[in-house]
Amino acid sequence: MSASPDEGLLRLARRDLVEMPAYEPIVPLDVLAKRLGIPEDRIAKLDGNENPYGPSPRVREALARFPHYHIYPDPEQRQVREAIAEYVGVSPEQIVVGNGSDELLDLTGRLFLSPGDKAVNAPPTFGIYEFVIRTYGAEVVEAPRREDFALDVDAAERALAAGAKLMFLASPNNPTGNAASAEELERLLSHGAAVVVDEAYAEFAGGTLPADRQGFVPLTAERDNLIVTRTFSKWAGLAGLRAGYGVFPPAVAETIRKIKMPYNMSVAAQAAVLASLEDRAALAENVKMIVSERERMAKALAGFPWLRVYPSRANFLLCQVQGRPATEVQAQLRERGVLVRYFNSPGVRGCLRISVGRPHDTDRLLTALSEIGAAVA
Ligand code: PMP
Repeated sequence: MSASPDEGLLRLARRDLVEMPAYEPIVPLDVLAKRLGIPEDRIAKLDGNENPYGPSPRVREALARFPHYHIYPDPEQRQVREAIAEYVGVSPEQIVVGNGSDELLDLTGRLFLSPGDKAVNAPPTFGIYEFVIRTYGAEVVEAPRREDFALDVDAAERALAAGAKLMFLASPNNPTGNAASAEELERLLSHGAAVVVDEAYAEFAGGTLPADRQGFVPLTAERDNLIVTRTFSKWAGLAGLRAGYGVFPPAVAETIRKIKMPYNMSVAAQAAVLASLEDRAALAENVKMIVSERERMAKALAGFPWLRVYPSRANFLLCQVQGRPATEVQAQLRERGVLVRYFNSPGVRGCLRISVGRPHDTDRLLTALSEIGAAVA
């Protein structure tokens, strides 16, 4: 397509990027509070899958004490990589850290994808995968999930067998809350393409393993095409500080470290990661509270005949609104100071994703839903 003359400098820019749809912006809490006329601390913010308990108090102490804000961070990030490696039980050689796990997804795309390459995505899922694939000029091959949100492994395998170089897979998946099985992952790995399992929510996934040993990280020792990304945003409450990491085969990790910006994790984020890992037992208690609150919330939401609640292994629940527009319910909740996320993409049309908050956030949500239900009944 030719550039129009009134485009200015953008006529020289990459066409595919200029024409790419924008990522849906989130309205900041202070702006929204003002708009609603409700004080910020009276809003139940259940739209961002954030941790309602916030960071460990040791993070605040470490940040207050830190003496070297004027010095650049270690570009090799040795201390945090060692601490994270100990946490997940792999070698520090396998770890790359970054400005949130988003950055690790981006760096993985940068390493593997060139214009014309194909990469597999399994929607409905986290929007960043498609964004990353497109920003590197590669083609998205969709393997849509089944009606119950299980992976369509046959469809994904067809795309991988046809030469896709990489697949992004969230487990537990956002926004559907379900996790992939080891059998499913083995099938995907058998094609030799890079499989990126995004475990942003691993610590909430439950099961019999301790929180820090959940998910597919142990498998990275055996499979040389498996990449796992993780974050401190959810279980450790550091979403605003931006701290994520990836577990890669050692040679891939070394190459990713070479292509990243040298100072991609601030000293503040590094200090916060170290303090969080030192206080992991207390943070695990917060995770436990969130998981038990999730189960209470799921049961209570199932009591509304106009909501269909899906099981979740993450820190949120997906609900389908039946017999009325979900946008209306979202707006009525917002008026009552309860923020939730609305989805209208294929597979999750008319769905609301509700992050798990503190017990009083759930109570406020349930009261608001009762009022909304009563108004219609
Ligand atoms: N992966 C998934 C599946 C997510 O839902 C999110 C956050 N919404 C992220 C990654 C990004 O996390 P981070 O804050 O570490 O960039």
